[in-house]
Amino acid sequence: AEIPTAAISRLVTYLRILESLELQDVSRTSSNDLAERAGVTAFQVRKDLAYFGRFGTRGMGYTVPILKRELVRVLGLNRSWNVVIVGMGRLGQAIANYPGASDYQFQYVGLFDVHPDLVGQQVRGLKVDHIDTLSEFTRLNAVDMGFLAVPPERAQDAAQALADAGVKGILNFAPTVIQPRGAERAGQQEISDEWRGVIVENVDFLAGMKRLAFYILNPHLKDAPAP
Ligand code: NAD
Repeated sequence: AEIPTAAISRLVTYLRILESLELQDVSRTSSNDLAERAGVTAFQVRKDLAYFGRFGTRGMGYTVPILKRELVRVLGLNRSWNVVIVGMGRLGQAIANYPGASDYQFQYVGLFDVHPDLVGQQVRGLKVDHIDTLSEFTRLNAVDMGFLAVPPERAQDAAQALADAGVKGILNFAPTVIQPRGAERAGQQEISDEWRGVIVENVDFLAGMKRLAFYILNPHLKDAPAP
């Protein structure tokens, strides 16, 4: 069965809460406690966790380090993830320079752009390569994810380059919907081979602003907070 995206978002929130409890040397928690800290119901917490197994003892709650370890495992954060950034303008450079990604073993292994002023430059100890060399790069280096930080009108082509290079996860920062089909076959309905198994996640702060504007004007239409 499929698991709602919101449940996975909440697991990420629960993990963050468990990390902060661990830092405060708190060793036990409960679905009530997690629920309160996450702004959801205890039923929701138990339901979200139940998708992945039984982690607590009935009436006893959870052991913080054990539940944390289990969530790390469920989310796949107990292995390393090799990431390339495509588009090394303002956003791409900001992402590359932000240290948080290395908390879990996300590591930037390659940076790509097309602009002659950027190709060949070093950012955080990595050289920016031309996007045309991406496939060659992925033949030689394992790449799990690509962050897309190119202008919206370049996003489909750049995403295609990632799919062609065999990258199976794309975090798209451009405010565009990426179509999982080859550029030369645009308009076709079926997903083309290179896109099979590719997951696209969108991070769109402009969309967030628009949702926020709507909910400020229509607060009574907001459903339960989805952290
Ligand atoms: P920018 O113009 O500073 O940088 C874009 C870079 O992409 C440039 O260096 C350009 O040379 C490069 N590029 C263009 N085509 C390329 C290709 N085919 N392959 C590789 N690189 C290519 O833009 P920016 O301000 O960094 O914004 C980048 C994207 O992120 C835009 O789509 C913007 O709308 C979006 N954005 C998203 C958020 C967010 O929160 N998601 C925030 C700000 C900007």
